[in-house]
Amino acid sequence: MTNRTFAIIKPDATRNANTGLIYDRILKANFKILAAKLVKMSKKQAEGFYDIHRGKPFFKELTDFMSSDICMVLALEKDNAVSEWRKTIGATNPADAEAGTIRKDFATSLGENAVHGSDSDENAQKEIAFFFTESELIANL
Ligand code: UDP
Ligand code: MG
Repeated sequence: MTNRTFAIIKPDATRNANTGLIYDRILKANFKILAAKLVKMSKKQAEGFYDIHRGKPFFKELTDFMSSDICMVLALEKDNAVSEWRKTIGATNPADAEAGTIRKDFATSLGENAVHGSDSDENAQKEIAFFFTESELIANL
């Protein structure tokens, strides 16, 4: 499973009509898109997805934001997918993100930072399974 990661194009990016530009960055960075779909998360779904952050000061703001509008969720494949995708998106805070990263170019703030990326193989597997069944992934067709 070390070659899979999970990504979200977040509500700020879909609202700002950046979905296509970010999808293009994913392809240009040589990720294979195993599955992609548009979702509008309920508050409860967003809380479930970000369960790892429950209790943190930004949890309410984060889950309000993530359930505020449409997201595109994606299962991605590449060698070392988790670290490669984290490199492609840049630091959590766009102010710290390197030039050429997705967050540098599309994020508006620390909270509204355009994209999500899994932080470990274990979480990537859980996060993919949160939104997709195995049979929905192209690799399994
Ligand atoms: N976040 C926030 N304030 C913070 C830290 C994080 O609003 O102080 C939001 C931000 O949208 C971030 C998400 O919570 O992407 C998850 O935080 P994490 O530390 O896991 O960052 P990521 O893995 O997304 O880079
Ligand atoms: Mg994280």
